[in-house]
Amino acid sequence: MTSHPVRTPQSTDERRRGLTEEDAARRLAEYGRNEVATRRTVRLHTRVVAQLRDPLIMVLLGAVALTVAIGDHADSVVIALVIVVNTTVGVIQEVRADNAVAALSAMSAPNARVLRGGCEREVPAAEVVPGDVLALGEGDIVPADALLTQASALLLDESMLTGESVPVDKDLRSGRPGAATLSAGTVVVRGRGIATVTATGAASALGRIAALLEGRLEATPLQRRLAALGRVLAVATLALCLLVFALGLIRGLAPGTMAVTAISLAVAAVPESLPAVVTLALALGARRMAARHAVVRRLPAVETLGSVTVLATDKTGTLTEGRMVVERVWTPEGAVDFTGAGYEPFGDVRVDGRAAEPAELGPVQKLLTTAALCNDAALRPPDEPSDGTGSRWTALGDPTEAALLTAAAKAHCEEPSTLHQTYPRTDEAPFDSLRKRMSTLHGTPTGQLMVCLKGAPEAVLDPAVLDESAQLLDRAQDEAALLAAQGYRVLAVACGERTEAPTRAADAESGLRLLGLAAINDPPKPAAAATLAACRAAGITPVLITGDHPATAWAIATRVGLLSPDSEPGEVVTGQSLAAGTVDDLTAVRVFARTDPQQKLDIVEAWRDRGDVTAMTGDGVNDGPALRQADIGVAMGRRGTEVARQSADLVLTDDELSTVVAAVEEGRRVYDNIRRFLVYGLAGGTAEILVMLLGPLLGLSLPLRAGQILWINLLTHGLTGVAMGAEPVSPRAMHRPPRPPQQHVLGHGLWQRVLFLAAVVTMASLAAGLSARAVDAAWQSVLFLSLLAAQLGVVMGLRDRLLTRENLFLPAAVLASAGLAMAALYVPFLRSVLETQPLGGTEVAVAAAVGLAGFAAARLSRQPWLRRLVVKQ
Ligand code: ATP
Repeated sequence: MTSHPVRTPQSTDERRRGLTEEDAARRLAEYGRNEVATRRTVRLHTRVVAQLRDPLIMVLLGAVALTVAIGDHADSVVIALVIVVNTTVGVIQEVRADNAVAALSAMSAPNARVLRGGCEREVPAAEVVPGDVLALGEGDIVPADALLTQASALLLDESMLTGESVPVDKDLRSGRPGAATLSAGTVVVRGRGIATVTATGAASALGRIAALLEGRLEATPLQRRLAALGRVLAVATLALCLLVFALGLIRGLAPGTMAVTAISLAVAAVPESLPAVVTLALALGARRMAARHAVVRRLPAVETLGSVTVLATDKTGTLTEGRMVVERVWTPEGAVDFTGAGYEPFGDVRVDGRAAEPAELGPVQKLLTTAALCNDAALRPPDEPSDGTGSRWTALGDPTEAALLTAAAKAHCEEPSTLHQTYPRTDEAPFDSLRKRMSTLHGTPTGQLMVCLKGAPEAVLDPAVLDESAQLLDRAQDEAALLAAQGYRVLAVACGERTEAPTRAADAESGLRLLGLAAINDPPKPAAAATLAACRAAGITPVLITGDHPATAWAIATRVGLLSPDSEPGEVVTGQSLAAGTVDDLTAVRVFARTDPQQKLDIVEAWRDRGDVTAMTGDGVNDGPALRQADIGVAMGRRGTEVARQSADLVLTDDELSTVVAAVEEGRRVYDNIRRFLVYGLAGGTAEILVMLLGPLLGLSLPLRAGQILWINLLTHGLTGVAMGAEPVSPRAMHRPPRPPQQHVLGHGLWQRVLFLAAVVTMASLAAGLSARAVDAAWQSVLFLSLLAAQLGVVMGLRDRLLTRENLFLPAAVLASAGLAMAALYVPFLRSVLETQPLGGTEVAVAAAVGLAGFAAARLSRQPWLRRLVVKQ
């Protein structure tokens, strides 16, 4: 790939307005996409060769050679057909799985915010071009190499490039070398910046870290376990087939015929399509999840989701609406209430139910003006003129800050734009979940400096920050606790004036005056309680981990049914007690408050140590490690930061917690379908071996010919096997506990069912064959048709909902297989190749009865009482 010349910003206008769309498109064509080709496209012939390298297919190729050598042309045709069909099905399944995975990675590809034609736009990071003006904010991943032109409190994590874990301060004023350069792939930990792209794609640092971004397609744990199981089965099957071969020789059958028969049996009995079926089931599961707004970023997550036992969720925006409204403001002089809904800046300020007097409004205005200055949010009016009734104003930026702007407008404070002109901001110490407060420095018309600060009450009502009497601090603390207990999110606001030379905002956070408290209502989502109840019904323990006040956390937790209403607020464990080490068992706690990101990690770790499988939601820049640590990191697609999205296994495109539950349901469906296929495939294979082993003992010298065995294999493992992967979810799937993560794939009664079904299929088929022989009918053809019918009966019988209209592919596949089974008896060409004979009505009826027996046995094996009998609960 060619390296691009380094581009620097051309003009101030370009810097302010960014590129035009046309220019961006032209540059995209010129410089190429901002990505590094990591995926090699696999050619068709490579895939075919890979399929042919499969040991079983090699054995079959050997068998073709053998049959040609001994002149058994009929069998060579059938075996060749099996090779062609198997290879085709294998290649198609692989291509479909690959396409599904590629579609998923496209859905979760990173985005970037750029200025184009004067407007800020979100574009796929791959479409960023040299010269683009980037707008960077907390949690963004720098999409290309860039030169910083503006920065405010910008802190970057460059560890992915340098290995240095301490974030780097990108302060343009420092004049430090490298302070203005940004490398692709680094993460904005804090602050904001504007930068001009200098290099994209392979020419950027992205090229250097391409290996890190490479979409790894490693096998899932289930795939690995099944591959191991497959190996054991293959060895066992080969041993049994050798036995069939030896017994045939002892009985005096031709060695060539017996070799081909044994080989065909081995091929038929080993569920060689299992890995392909599993990959396809996972890929299709991921596609269905995406349709339900859950985008899986790694294929193994599909399978892990089904066994999630703990769902650790955050509060704001996940359990609550995330649409905040200031309802009460407390100042040392008195309290006022606000009316109005949403971000609509219309509403009244009331004192004890009547409109507030101008004198009463003064302290409130001072508090809200300070909060509006110490603020990076904006309110966006509705697109069409609002009649004032609908809450159609929206918040840009932090919802907490937007709510404060709405309240300021209701209290008739000055417009934020005027405020920012009168009091220009000179520095800021941004909010983060560790400090839990934010402060800004402003110039005043009198030439002084003003400090504005807001934050969580504990972070503000502190003698180190406020120069207030202990009495006032106590009063404010009591009031804050009272408001929090009512479920309000509480912020304390303070200000101060400085005459001395400008300092950094963080250094000015002392000696301030308390203005009061703002109580923000963020009601629980109407669906939150039902979602948590659905989790519990599915055996998933919900846990709330929030940065908010314990009393607020308790109030919300009781409202959504996470804690019972008669629980004690003391049941909420705070980050402080975690730090003090007073909590013995983290897994016994259901609500954590005032936690920091490191503690989230500890909580996930504690659950994992107990052997649980945890899903954890997160959206902030600090949530990355916890999202990676959890078995399933869940990021909010809309609200979450780019870092959270790229660290997660699952991205919720609708930001709804209920989508996690839907994804778990899909995960369980995939696992159930794989297990169903296992029962079917293994029971069929075992039955085929048993028929070949027991038949001769009952006087049926060579029960089935090689071609017949392979035909059965094609019709059972081919279409019907694949169709099973798309079976609908069981109605009980979300009303039973998750499977224990350490449970064997054949556990929980599966292998017993395999043996039971194999026994029934074998006995019924052999009985049909023997009865035909007794009346001198074509017993081998009867046995052939019966064995096929029994397996098709089992497929239908294993369905969860027998008559569902979903997945009509399965009944259609069964019908097609039944049709091809009949074709084997009545189409002259197939008859000569497969060495069958046409059967009369009675014999076909006998085979149909055997099919019914298979069906009945499968239904019986699903009975809960029978399962309880074999599986110790
Ligand atoms: P969750 O982790 O469940 O989303 P949260 O969003 O409430 O919880 P944080 O965002 O860490 O957690 O907020 C913690 C506290 O910090 C809040 O209770 C509030 O008092 C204060 N706070 C939140 N946002 C701001 C802000 N923009 N400026 C100042 N203080 C804030």
